[in-house]
Amino acid sequence: MLTDSEQQSFDVSVTDVKLPIYAGIDVGGTGIKIGIVDDNGRVLAYQRILTHQEKGPEDGVKRIHQCLTELVEDTNINWDQIEALGLGTPGTMDIPAGMLLELPNMSGWNHFRIRDAVSEACQKPVAFVNDANAAAYGEFWVGTGAENDCLIMLTLGTGLGGGIIIRDISLDGEHSHGSECGHVIVDTSDAARMCPCGLRGHMEAYASATSVAKRTTEGLPGYPQSSLHAVVKSGNKISSLDVFEHAEKRDAYALQIVKETAEYLAIGITSLVHTIDPDIVVLGGAMDFGGGSTDTGKMFLGHIRSRFSELTFPVLAENTIIDFATLGSDSGFIGAAGVARAQFGQN
Ligand SMILES: [Zn+2]
Repeated sequence: MLTDSEQQSFDVSVTDVKLPIYAGIDVGGTGIKIGIVDDNGRVLAYQRILTHQEKGPEDGVKRIHQCLTELVEDTNINWDQIEALGLGTPGTMDIPAGMLLELPNMSGWNHFRIRDAVSEACQKPVAFVNDANAAAYGEFWVGTGAENDCLIMLTLGTGLGGGIIIRDISLDGEHSHGSECGHVIVDTSDAARMCPCGLRGHMEAYASATSVAKRTTEGLPGYPQSSLHAVVKSGNKISSLDVFEHAEKRDAYALQIVKETAEYLAIGITSLVHTIDPDIVVLGGAMDFGGGSTDTGKMFLGHIRSRFSELTFPVLAENTIIDFATLGSDSGFIGAAGVARAQFGQN
């Protein structure tokens, strides 16, 4: 979970580091996570700095370089041992050009050629990747999908990001819009919800944290018995975390919202699986209704699995794994480093 304060954490024991080393950079609207990762995907050090997007992208790149220099010094590795950098950013983006296009949450950075700027500042080759694809690559490399060859990841957060990794390749597409899993269509009716992208009926319009909060708030007047009324009465807006907390207390309406969210995800996942046929679908992001250690999270995952089984072919129902992610918010920078390894490494 991101906070407004700077964070730093080290797990340094360089004796069994496997060379070469990669650096991963995960740029977000609030924070930038920068980490040093060895050839086995082990994190040697990482730090999160604030994006300070109002200062502009050139300043951001300068501070990325500065932070990376400090991390290298702190971990007692040589700058020369870093083979390449991986850079994940939100979309939209032009991956071949190394350029950011339109960023809804950090518009001051629009049309900035960030890949070459980072490469020049750090004097290293840079692999450029969508942040959701980077997260997927992280789970594929050393996370939930480490034993799998082909993975689809959905990142359930403020939006609904997607990543598809097929045997070491991140599916970026011909126009840098590949793996936009949040925008598969789950409702074609006239009443279909509007997605933040401006089109209707997309999975993100139903199953992101924002959409869950919106659906819950809109439907609440029809459920006068729901304990969620207390949130509104106290002057707060309902969040997806409230839905989780009230579902844990067995509020029937909150449980229904969780189940309906699972339903929409199962529909979207079925279309994605019928297109790609992966061996695993990983659910990441903060909106996991508590994840695998809570009753609500288990029910959420269980319902996605059972509805998927009903909607898909028997062989896929039997063999496709659906599970929660394990790397948390570290998957972005770890995966970006992994993409750099896949592009520039010798293996
Ligand atoms: Zn959309």
